[in-house]
Amino acid sequence: MLQSDLFTKTRREAPKDEEAINAQLLIRAGFIDKLQAGVYTFLPLGLRVFKKIENIIRKEMEALGGQEILMPSLQPKSSWTQTGRWETYDSLFRFISHYSKIEYALGPTHEEIISPLLGKFIFSYKDLPKYAFQIQNKFRDEKRAKSGLLRGREFFMKDLYSFHKDEADMDKYYEKAKKSYDKIFKAVGLGKLTYLTFASGGTFSKYSHEFQTLTPAGEDIIFICDKCKIAVNKEIIGEQNVCPQCGNKNLKQEKAVEVGNIFKLKTKYSTPFNLKYKDEKGAGKDVIMGCYGIGLNRLMGTIVEVYHDEKGIIWPESVAPFKAHLLNLAVNNKKITAFADKIYNSLQKAGVEVLYDDRNDISAGEKFKDADLIGIPYRLVISEKAGGKIEIKKRNENKAKLVDEKELIKIL
Ligand code: ATP
Ligand code: MG
Repeated sequence: MLQSDLFTKTRREAPKDEEAINAQLLIRAGFIDKLQAGVYTFLPLGLRVFKKIENIIRKEMEALGGQEILMPSLQPKSSWTQTGRWETYDSLFRFISHYSKIEYALGPTHEEIISPLLGKFIFSYKDLPKYAFQIQNKFRDEKRAKSGLLRGREFFMKDLYSFHKDEADMDKYYEKAKKSYDKIFKAVGLGKLTYLTFASGGTFSKYSHEFQTLTPAGEDIIFICDKCKIAVNKEIIGEQNVCPQCGNKNLKQEKAVEVGNIFKLKTKYSTPFNLKYKDEKGAGKDVIMGCYGIGLNRLMGTIVEVYHDEKGIIWPESVAPFKAHLLNLAVNNKKITAFADKIYNSLQKAGVEVLYDDRNDISAGEKFKDADLIGIPYRLVISEKAGGKIEIKKRNENKAKLVDEKELIKIL
């Protein structure tokens, strides 16, 4: 993509009303725009990152047997009264139609929709197990929305729901889902910092599990067991004060962000929606459910919190908007510009995603600053100085080296 075509521009100053580093950097670099507290637009650069994250997640969900669907945000009150959550769900956005006076909710999650939905298709043990997921925008009336993409009032979630004939089958799937989650967090560059964290299972199970990524920006406190490489959250430490796996008492306290969470719902939602099936003997049984969430905005914000320096963002390659950022520092020199154009074309032919800073009204210093702020993994500089070669430097390294076109394509 030509940078001169991008309608967004970078900003030197962070907006005054943004406290969170992730939002400050993402806004300054032109990835997102703030509409109001907790509500952001994804701009062209931001949407590219979002889609990379989305596709990493989608691939793992499909490998888990998940079938993708898309459920509505606009939901009837009746679905929510059936589970009692119309009254109890604190962050539920509720409103009334001006014409019909009918009450609606904006979906903060979709158990109330998917349970009766699958009830239309599940009749017998032969129809189980089934897995459905969506990547969809959620609405939550969050009291505090000051953490940028980490806590929004409108945000995207991947929510997967599983339907089983018994708990043993759900337990097996739950363990598989844990492994998929590990793969996802590793793929986006957060593997080493993300801990499987024991959390309360509510009234239906002993534990649920959160996936918590260590960062000072985190709103949660977790307690890490160095022996098991797992963690427990505040509720669990309050209850038992030891590692649930090995009994270790020396747990290390850290700040973290909950990027994902998995839950054995069992019959919590199948009961209110009368979601049953006939077993081999023709007896009616409750369908057993699990649910599995990942926040995409939150994941993107967490990546920025973890990977940045004083100059800007440092994207992991797997989620970067482009792999390479090509800077032409000699836009007024026809010969060098022709060379830069040629490099841009051959990179594209080689399948390398490249943002080409071809802007002719921006100084070299500004181009360098923008490249550091935007944070694309490889910076390629073409200038009068480079003498027909390309200077290549990784965003997270200081040393640059000069290469010719062939070497460049090989490296990228
Ligand atoms: P939290 O405890 O942080 O409020 P939660 O436990 O309510 O989150 P879930 O309902 O389990 O979250 O949602 C699944 C995932 O959606 C979370 O793990 C998180 O990644 C993401 N998420 C939840 N709330 C928000 C939000 N307000 N903004 C962005 N992402 C969110
Ligand atoms: Mg939580």
